[in-house]
Amino acid sequence: MSARRPLVAGNWKMNGMPDAIGELRATMAGAGDARCDVLVCPPFPLVADFAREAGEGAVGIGAQDCHPEEKGAHTGDVSASLLAAIGARAVILGHSERRADHGEDDALVRAKAEAALGAGLLPIVCVGETEAQRDAGEAEATVLGQLDGSLPDDAGVVVAYEPVWAIGTGRVPGTDDIAAMHAAIRKALVARHGEAGQGIRILYGGSVKPGNAAEIFAIDDVDGGLIGGASLKADDFLGIVAAA
Ligand code: PEP
Repeated sequence: MSARRPLVAGNWKMNGMPDAIGELRATMAGAGDARCDVLVCPPFPLVADFAREAGEGAVGIGAQDCHPEEKGAHTGDVSASLLAAIGARAVILGHSERRADHGEDDALVRAKAEAALGAGLLPIVCVGETEAQRDAGEAEATVLGQLDGSLPDDAGVVVAYEPVWAIGTGRVPGTDDIAAMHAAIRKALVARHGEAGQGIRILYGGSVKPGNAAEIFAIDDVDGGLIGGASLKADDFLGIVAAA
């Protein structure tokens, strides 16, 4: 295990009603002595209540998006500074579902990451290739291109490598493929940020479950995970936290 403290972040996507705070409480109860950072990222309307509940404890609360600007005429959007003011510690940016559903490009993701940093939030910047790009032998070039365009100059970020074809499908790349991509990302981070690039955590995301988490987290340069479906139930999520 590297000197980087692992991070396990749960992306609830558009799931969870107010009573799901019970899952947060169960996660908090089980994560008290976790040897990794733990984040739960619920939908926007739950962030404030969850952050109040989580307080300064071991489980941080994050959001799933923010707007690059601090305020203004942007109906339906939420600023990074508002998220920070209501207690969020982090924000997921450039998730493939936002890139696909909302046409977010690298430049927009970078602007959002800069806004998040400016507000004191930890940006978790997502990158990943589609199945067609992998089949065409373009996986690494795609991911490195996304990194280049999406990352701010500040090294205070987390990168999440999430092959699009592995998200929510139960399919996971082979350990050699994950290792190769994380090594390529590390190399690019060091080329860009120098020594500080060694300190940037690189999460793997895509069908991580309690049963495969330990094997994935043991791969070099995998510094934890971004977890979708398996983060919705505290028992499953805590199984993954334990593996980190
Ligand atoms: C995700 O959406 O970030 C994700 C990794 O989803 P899942 O764990 O369900 O594949």
